[in-house]
Amino acid sequence: MSAPLWTAEVAANVTGGHLEGGEWTATGVSIDSRSLDAGDLFVALTAERDGHQFAPAAMKAGAAAALVSRADACEGPRLVVDDVMEALSKLAIASRDRSDARRIAVTGSVGKTSVKEWIAASLREAGQAHWSVKSFNNHWGVPLTLARMAQTTEHAVFEMGMNHAGEIRPLSRLVQPHVALITRIAPAHLENLGSMEAIADAKSEIFEGMAPDAVAVIPSDDAYYDRLASKVMKSRAAFLFGFGAARDAAVRLERFDDAPDGGRGRLNVLGRLVDFKLAASGAHQGLNAAAVMAACVAAGLEAEQVVAALERQTAAAGRGASFTLSLPEGGEAVIVDDSYNANPVSMTAALDSLSKRQPRGQGRRIAVLGEMLELGLDSAGMHGALAEPVVQAGVSRVIAVGRLMQSLLDALPKSVTGQSARSADSALEILIDELHDGDVVLIKGSNASGVHKIVSSLREGR
Ligand code: ATP
Ligand code: MG
Repeated sequence: MSAPLWTAEVAANVTGGHLEGGEWTATGVSIDSRSLDAGDLFVALTAERDGHQFAPAAMKAGAAAALVSRADACEGPRLVVDDVMEALSKLAIASRDRSDARRIAVTGSVGKTSVKEWIAASLREAGQAHWSVKSFNNHWGVPLTLARMAQTTEHAVFEMGMNHAGEIRPLSRLVQPHVALITRIAPAHLENLGSMEAIADAKSEIFEGMAPDAVAVIPSDDAYYDRLASKVMKSRAAFLFGFGAARDAAVRLERFDDAPDGGRGRLNVLGRLVDFKLAASGAHQGLNAAAVMAACVAAGLEAEQVVAALERQTAAAGRGASFTLSLPEGGEAVIVDDSYNANPVSMTAALDSLSKRQPRGQGRRIAVLGEMLELGLDSAGMHGALAEPVVQAGVSRVIAVGRLMQSLLDALPKSVTGQSARSADSALEILIDELHDGDVVLIKGSNASGVHKIVSSLREGR
């Protein structure tokens, strides 16, 4: 039995709502009746659909009570409020204020979930930890994560994402982080933001809600370092840690040797040399490790606790983890599953990491690439520009999914055979037809390109 998180009385006090249908104690908070654990408080949020319609299912699944704005949404214990979203935010604030947890917030154009997962693993080494699940990083994901935090939590990490300017600021003000980390500035959501400078500024909103004496952690090798640093100077941050290869980085990546079964590196952590190993591969993972070290040390962890956690962490699901596929006609191929999402920076990182994987025997390097969405005006140029990293990675075959990828196919030299697939399904057919023993296949594209379905079909053995 888990410890109580919210009692009816405290939740009613905090939200100003009224109780109907009896007493209760909740051990968790959930907004989804399908994944709800027995004992959770079900929060009837309205996003694409009205959560109230799922309240009966939530109660049937064992919810302790339902937080609703319509008392008749279900039977059983209910906490009735005027506005469910506002009530969730109030629970989040109360949760923050009653705990002594040191809070880390993570944003950036790429690598938020990867870095958040590794920070969470490090925090678990140090004691009672709490973290955002999946990419729960938006206007409901962040308050939900905070409302779920046990009072006795010692360290917590929150992922913060955005599609538009102005979205990170309220999240930072809600969490009031002691450590705020920006992983990297890259052209993601460029269409909405308009320029790279605007992206850097929108991410910098994470410094606006920081707790007193907080530490800002920024990428020292990034083209927008100076811009980010000037935002930090104007904020309440007491300290600025850079991470990366730059000479003056507080957490400096002295070296990193990438290999398919993981990387090894050395960090200079505020003047102390610390060696580390990773179970994940890819040159960018060395930088992610530096980011994790900087954020955790800033939150009061020992470097050794981070090293112990990093050693066990593989790439997060869909972000570069690989598996071996047995082929029906015999033999095996290696599938690199980076299908969760894509933009020019993460595409280049994934291709670079593919170059380190040696195909076996007659095997080839194959890239199944789905289009990168929301890139704005120069979208065609950015797709075409992938030709260079494709060639450098030693890829001999490209299966391209989606119309935008035509620009890449047009830019490929003769040494690489490209083929266009209308959909992820037809890319799967093409791939299955020509997979041979020893092949190494990278699968990557924007979430909406559907290439993740290729990975799940392959895993299910279709
Ligand atoms: P989202 O905005 O969708 O939540 P995210 O910022 O959480 O994305 P991840 O899910 O961690 O990012 O990673 C997205 C992609 O970027 C993956 O392909 C991952 O391998 C790659 N990636 C992770 N870290 C870096 C990095 N430092 N540089 C470049 N690419 C990276
Ligand atoms: Mg994420």
